[in-house]
Amino acid sequence: MKILITGGSGLVGSAIKEIVHFENEDYKKKSLKNENEYVFISSKDCNLTDIDITRDYFSKCKPDAVIHLAAYVGGLFRNMSEKIKMYEINTQINYNVLKVCDELNINRVLSCLSTCIFPDKTTYPIDETMLHNGPPHFSNDGYAYSKRMLEVHSRMYYENKNRLYNCIIPTNIYGKYDNFDLEDAHVIPALVHKCYLAKKNDEDFVVKGSGKPLRQFIYNLDLAKLILKVLFNYNDKEPIILSVSEEDEVSIGDVARTIAKWFKYEERIKFDCDSADGQFKKTADNKKLMTLFPDTEFTSIDKGIATTVEWFNITPDYLIRK
Ligand code: NAP
Ligand code: GDP
Repeated sequence: MKILITGGSGLVGSAIKEIVHFENEDYKKKSLKNENEYVFISSKDCNLTDIDITRDYFSKCKPDAVIHLAAYVGGLFRNMSEKIKMYEINTQINYNVLKVCDELNINRVLSCLSTCIFPDKTTYPIDETMLHNGPPHFSNDGYAYSKRMLEVHSRMYYENKNRLYNCIIPTNIYGKYDNFDLEDAHVIPALVHKCYLAKKNDEDFVVKGSGKPLRQFIYNLDLAKLILKVLFNYNDKEPIILSVSEEDEVSIGDVARTIAKWFKYEERIKFDCDSADGQFKKTADNKKLMTLFPDTEFTSIDKGIATTVEWFNITPDYLIRK
């Protein structure tokens, strides 16, 4: 099988690349060849907002399956300030990918949603059946509505054209290869970069918001393994949540303290309570995942942050997105 991965240069795409690399090394050791070929693309290979470029690239590549990760992505503060871009770019990308895959008779597309697109006012834990049961949190509605339509669009191809187009719903993701931009990144990479600079410049380590909101974080290499399992073994039309358990939900304050611990800079944490907190929580249920794949294991947040901080510290500056 030839598998095309859009968003192949991002946090999740790079993690799949690493997993596939080690998978291939294992095959080599056994003098075997991986039956699957993986092609990782970024916006430089193919601008997915342009349907002609997308059609041209996909028709030359001829994949049997697509893992669709590409998106215009950012943390709470980018989601609030760039709602129109979040909606328009992601809608264009998602429409073009599904439309072109159908035109070219590519029968398998696994697309990526996010738990931040669930309804804001809801009961907890949130499960896969609740995706469209009310408006998303106002802070990221541009991104959320666009992603919800990706789920709707995939389901319509499944129902009317028998295409195996379905979606995963990961929680907050973090790890090596992330975008560490100070303003636009998600909380873990932004705080890793901020703590690094605070220590270097002997300044306070400032965390935005109260630190009270709760999140479930999944390490990108754990998610990468799950995505490959889902691609080959999950054929339902409903999406599937990819998440650590409810018990492993942590506060932003705890995450900040863990980052500071690994930088040995715990004394100078300050919470900027004038900054937005975003959604208080979006606790997701991983029952479906654990029923289907009971051997799933997760990296602890402490170990995952340690690895991410170490990677940030040893990786040459020009290789880090920031
Ligand atoms: P990321 O690190 O920001 O990477 C985004 C990827 O999309 C990059 O490979 C980027 O290519 C590509 N891309 C962006 N615009 C493109 C365009 N116009 N044409 C082609 N490719 C384009 O994102 P990520 O964190 O890996 O996210 C992967 C998926 O997970 C996304 O669908 C996201 O919505 C979802 N998700 C993320 C999180 C999270 O916490 N990060 C949580 C839940 C769900 P370039 O490198 O060339 O820009
Ligand atoms: P979300 O989970 O979709 O809301 O996205 P984020 O990864 O951006 O996490 C947002 C939460 O982390 C909010 O409670 C923010 O107040 C908090 N936070 C603290 N410092 C930062 C920061 O420097 N950047 C971001 N993005 N969030 C921060």
